[in-house]
Amino acid sequence: MTQNSAFSLSRRALLAAAAAVAAAGRAAAGPGKRSQAEVAYQDHPHGAERCEICAPFLPPDQCRLVVGPVSRQGWCKVFTGPDEP
Ligand code: SF4
Repeated sequence: MTQNSAFSLSRRALLAAAAAVAAAGRAAAGPGKRSQAEVAYQDHPHGAERCEICAPFLPPDQCRLVVGPVSRQGWCKVFTGPDEP
């Protein structure tokens, strides 16, 4: 095995491992859900806005749009008030 082929194998193994980690992350996040970091989730309200009055909130601690768990008192930038479309 030459130095170049050893490098190719290592690079291939590294790419395969990275793809596996990415796939595992997507599976944990659930289909169509965004990560908490992506939506700037915080575990406290934003003024009067909070998860428990947000349309996608699923009691006791899940959200239709964001990977949970989320707090009733939490908030994120895709907050959707109960009267909003
Ligand atoms: S504020 Fe964000 S995390 Fe909380 S229920 Fe609404 S969409 Fe989900």
